[in-house]
Amino acid sequence: MGDYLVRAIGYNGQVRAFATRTTETVGEAQRRHNTWPVVSAALGRSMTAAVMMGAMLKGEDKLTVKIEGNGPIGPMIIDADAKGDVRGYVTNGQVHFDLNEYGKLDVRAGVGTEGFMTVVKDLGLRDMFSGQTPIVSGEIAEDFTYYFATSEQVPSSVGLGVLVNPDNSILAAGGFILQIMPGCEEETIESIEKHLSTIEPVSKMIEKGMTPEQILEAVLGEEGNVQILSTMPIRFQCQCSKERFGAAILGLGVKEIQDMIEEQGEIETQCHFCLQTYDFSEAELQGLIDEINA
Ligand code: ZN
Repeated sequence: MGDYLVRAIGYNGQVRAFATRTTETVGEAQRRHNTWPVVSAALGRSMTAAVMMGAMLKGEDKLTVKIEGNGPIGPMIIDADAKGDVRGYVTNGQVHFDLNEYGKLDVRAGVGTEGFMTVVKDLGLRDMFSGQTPIVSGEIAEDFTYYFATSEQVPSSVGLGVLVNPDNSILAAGGFILQIMPGCEEETIESIEKHLSTIEPVSKMIEKGMTPEQILEAVLGEEGNVQILSTMPIRFQCQCSKERFGAAILGLGVKEIQDMIEEQGEIETQCHFCLQTYDFSEAELQGLIDEINA
């Protein structure tokens, strides 16, 4: 079974819901960046939330989530779009922490408990939306919940989970987001809160192999009457290319490129998100200068 995401409604449209399985996607990020368990959990939870936020967008829209805590893993940046593509990287991938007092990966210690989460949405036609909230937990799910409540004024419940194998590979990853729609009845909210207080942690559900559909059924319960609207495959996918790096070098201007040629002859560039490298020979760099001068 490949990774996928479901969009759904519950309580006859009073709640909208998303759930996803991201095991392969987070696994790809872990392999590319060789992240250690706490970092994998932090990045994996963030990517899982971001891919669900991407599913709230339309068409060519995309978004970037930047989580900058004061912990040793450093800033994390995740890009996601409306088509299920997500990519992400973290500044320091090889940081180790002992398990916390609950016997869980100590994500908070890695991310830090102070700092900011910034979401930038590119909604096409030069329409940009940007929101920033402080990190309130460092465990990621609570930070997204706080972001939705304060920056987007949408009461939400976010559950995220990443389980890591002893060899650092990803055993399972996934999560859900519930959002209360305007006009939602008070008793619906009470019912959801009551239900959420009794469900098992999302990491447990993922470990059991529950599908996104089953996760939503468990989270909203029978009274939630989950109706699946659509499903979408998701994957770790980078949009980098040699052309894009060429355009970035072009933007540096003639003087900078000439300095590169004189100092290094040829250069190697590397994508932060996927670690793919792109070499530019002296002739190619000279070609960029010719392009500017043309
Ligand atoms: Zn890339």
